[in-house]
Amino acid sequence: MRDEIASRVSLAKGPHALSIPGPSMAPERVLRAMHRPSPNIYQGPLIEMTHSLFPDLKRVARTEHHATIYIGNGHAAWEACLANTHSRGDLVLIPKTGSFADGWATMAEGLGLRTEIMDFGNRGPIDPAAVGERLRADKGHEIRSVLMVHVDTSSSVRSDAAALRRELDAAGHPALLQADCIASMGCDRFEMDEWGVDVAVTGCQKGLMTPPGLAFVFYNDKADRARERADCVTGYWDWRPRTNPEVYFRYFNGTAPTHHLYGLREALDMIHEEGMEAVWARHAALARAVWAALEAWERDGPLEMNVRDAAHRSHAVTSVRLPERGTELRTWCEEQFGLTLGIGVGMAPMGSPEWDGFFRIGHMGHVNGHVVMGTLGGIEAGLDALGVPHGPGGLSAAAKALAQA
Ligand SMILES: *Cc1c(COP(=O)(O)O)cnc(C)c1O
Repeated sequence: MRDEIASRVSLAKGPHALSIPGPSMAPERVLRAMHRPSPNIYQGPLIEMTHSLFPDLKRVARTEHHATIYIGNGHAAWEACLANTHSRGDLVLIPKTGSFADGWATMAEGLGLRTEIMDFGNRGPIDPAAVGERLRADKGHEIRSVLMVHVDTSSSVRSDAAALRRELDAAGHPALLQADCIASMGCDRFEMDEWGVDVAVTGCQKGLMTPPGLAFVFYNDKADRARERADCVTGYWDWRPRTNPEVYFRYFNGTAPTHHLYGLREALDMIHEEGMEAVWARHAALARAVWAALEAWERDGPLEMNVRDAAHRSHAVTSVRLPERGTELRTWCEEQFGLTLGIGVGMAPMGSPEWDGFFRIGHMGHVNGHVVMGTLGGIEAGLDALGVPHGPGGLSAAAKALAQA
C-alpha cells in the first residue's frame, strides 16, 4: 500500500534542498553576484575588490597572518600547504579520526613525504595525550608537521586543535600544526591564532557558501620560515608571490577566477554582516535541533548518531548509522521529497553491504531554522514511508530545541 502511494504521488517538485556536507547550498545573493559579464582583469573594480577579500578571509579564519587564494578545491589546499612547508623525505604525523585524513596523507605521499598515521577510529576525536606521547618520543624532532582534520566530514567528529598545540608546546616540539578546516570554517568555532595553528586550509564550497572552485591557505610566519627549506614547492603552489603580489595576476598565478571572486565577496559580506560569533551560534543551534530529532528517533529502532558525545560533534554535518537501510532512505528523500542527503563516505568500503548503512545530514553554510526543519521532516517522512521503526517526536523535539535557541 505504501509503495502504491509513493509511486502515485511525488512530493519532489518545488525548491530542491541539498543537505549534503558540501557543496552546500549557494545563497541567491552569491549566485546573483556571479551572474555578470566578464570583467577586465587588468584594471578597474575587480582589482580593488580582490584586495578587499584577504582581510575579510582572515577575519573568518581568525588570523592576523597571511591568506592566499588558489583556484582549486580542498585537495588543492592540501597540496598547497604541504608543498610550501616540506621537503621530500620529511616525516609528517597524522593523528586521524574518520577518513578525510587518509586523503591528506595520500597527497603528502605523492609529494614524497613520509607519513605516520595514528588512527583514533571513526566515532571519537583525536586523543591529544597520545599525540603528546608520540611527540615526546621524537627526541630528534624528525616530525616536521602534525596534520589534523578539525572536523572529519565522514564521521562528523570534531577534534581539538588547541589541545594539540598544548601538547606540542609541552613536548617542546617544533613541528608545525596544520589544520584542515574544509568542513568547519564558517560553521564551527575556529581560532587560528589563539589556538596556535600554524597553517589552516579550507575551500569555498562549504561554510563559505560559494560554488566549488576556490581553495584557501592561511599561514603564519613560522610556517613561512619552513617555506625557506621546502623543496616540494613549485611555481604554481608557491604561496609567497600570492601573498603580496607585485602585479595582480600573481595573486592567482594566471587569470583570476573572476566570477568566483564576486561570489566569494558576497558570501564574505553575508558572513560579516551576521558576525562570526553569530554565524557559529546559528550553526550550533541548528546542530542541536538535528541532534534533538535524532535522539528522539534513536529511542526505538536501528537509527543511531555516529558520535555519541555531543561535545565531539561537528556543527556542520551529522553522520547517522542506519544499518542496511541508509541508502534506501536517501533514495526515498531524493525521489519523493526533493531532498538530497549525504552518502556515508568513508565509514565502510563503497559498494560493500555495510556501506548502505549510513547517511549524513549537511547543515553547513546557508542554512536556517526552516531549512533544517525541512530536512528533518523529510527524514521522518522517509522513515515512516519505508516502515523503519523509530522513536516518536523527532520533529517536535527539534522545534523545541529551536524555540529555546
Ligand atoms: C570536503 C572536504 C575535503 C575535500 O575537499 P574537496 O573540495 O572535495 O577536494 C577535505 N577535507 C575535509 C574535512 C572536507 O570536508
